[in-house]
Amino acid sequence: MARKEKKLGRVYLVGAGPGRADLITVRGAKLLKQADCVIYDKLVNPALLRYVREDAEIIHTPKRVSEGSVSQGSINELLVEKAGEHDVLVRLKGGDPCMFGRGAEEAEILSGSSIEFEIVPGITAGVAACEYAGVMLTDRRYSSEAAFVTGREAEGKQSSGIDWPLLAKWRGSIIFYMGMGNLEKIAERLIDEGLSGDTAAAVIQNATLPNQRVVRSLLRDIAKQCKRAGIGAPAIVVIGKAAKDSGLEWFRRLPLFGKSIVVTRDATGNAEFAEKITERGGEALSFPTIKIKSLTDEDKFTGLLKRLWECEVVVFTSANGVRIFFDFLSRMGKDSRVFGNVEIAAVGLPTMRALMDYGLRADYMPAEFTTKALAQELINKANIKGKRVMLLRSAIASDELPRLLLEAGVQLDGAEVYTAVRHTGPVEMLEQRLREKSVHWLTFTSPSTVENFFEQIDTVLVKSAGVRIASIGPVTADAIRKIGLTVDAEAKEYTTDGLLKAIEQV
Ligand code: SAH
Repeated sequence: MARKEKKLGRVYLVGAGPGRADLITVRGAKLLKQADCVIYDKLVNPALLRYVREDAEIIHTPKRVSEGSVSQGSINELLVEKAGEHDVLVRLKGGDPCMFGRGAEEAEILSGSSIEFEIVPGITAGVAACEYAGVMLTDRRYSSEAAFVTGREAEGKQSSGIDWPLLAKWRGSIIFYMGMGNLEKIAERLIDEGLSGDTAAAVIQNATLPNQRVVRSLLRDIAKQCKRAGIGAPAIVVIGKAAKDSGLEWFRRLPLFGKSIVVTRDATGNAEFAEKITERGGEALSFPTIKIKSLTDEDKFTGLLKRLWECEVVVFTSANGVRIFFDFLSRMGKDSRVFGNVEIAAVGLPTMRALMDYGLRADYMPAEFTTKALAQELINKANIKGKRVMLLRSAIASDELPRLLLEAGVQLDGAEVYTAVRHTGPVEMLEQRLREKSVHWLTFTSPSTVENFFEQIDTVLVKSAGVRIASIGPVTADAIRKIGLTVDAEAKEYTTDGLLKAIEQV
């Protein structure tokens, strides 16, 4: 049998989910991690690209109905071309790849070109929008049927593929996609065909995202109400009894719903923090102000490991310190066993959790997560006078901990395992948002994040934007006050969870 000369890759038509990045399927996320090339649409949440390998090719295809956009024909060509270049090609499409998504056409082209493909379904916007707005599409008490309809065909009676007379008689729910451009016509057409203008209708814009908005009205008024409220695409239109207010709109009841919160840690810290904000219904705006840089080299590290055995206690003062230590350890082909019976102290819960990722539990952790409390804990409980204690920490940490330990008669050893260097954030984006007054909170987790942030963003702009400021603890709060700003919320427990709790209580 003749072998094909050209290597043909496998193409995955993957549904990205309806908006929120974590509504993709497990299979979808797994394929994004494996992809050599990702071609994604306008409605896909760009946050999903963080799964994609750095060396993968990423192509954005903002297909629109308007001029100057990429046509479906050229997307099809691109798919075939790229499939020849890559082993794993992910074609990432908003919602479900086939639901009004032209996934069928793309599959046909691939099939016709003898390119293997797989379809990975996604949560479609029509279903997600309704569930996030408390619209129960198939509640058997009032809706035993649901029709998914495109709203792009409302004009032009002859060419329409939609059975309008049938829809006008429909007793269940009607869900329109792409209906905002024609909303008035859709309503008129249904009413003309005999559906009552008193039928309930709802429009859900930016579903599942922190800027989700819902307008409820009667069919005859829905277009006017949306215009008044400034609702536009992307939105789902639902018509039928299910569109009535069910009192089940759970999403907007989340504690941070509608709040835009700037996070200013390093990229990894921001991603973790952003996840917590999203879970509480808020929007996280990532503005990394620092970059964590490892400071150890192999010789230094080998020396450190040798001396580790001579110490009674090893102290970690941040999760970053833990990660960098273990990265290095692993690169040297070693693991947690280097600790033997040496005791371990952690400044707080995040550091403890980072240790637990490597199978270790801290013997000492203070109730309050400060270096001062940590020193006290070690003095009170570890009986450290005259003992050797190894500090593994950041080069920019304050000297409070070593000072307190030295005063307590400890023989100090240790190393600066990492430092935080300044990082430039997306200044233009944030300035724009501040000017629009569409930012609610700035959050800071260390004095260096405060310093680096305000070297890039003017305090005058921050003051005039009506934005509030939250701090992870007293040391950071002092740094904020020092530059003349007010701290509106301060965490009681010095973690990002504590910080969000403080914001929620304002
Ligand atoms: N394949 C997609 C739909 C593509 S058609 C899916 O399965 O969801 C594009 C339409 O989807 C938009 O016009 C809008 O009606 C709807 N849509 C997509 N994302 C949306 C969102 N976050 N909120 C509301 N509607 C959305």
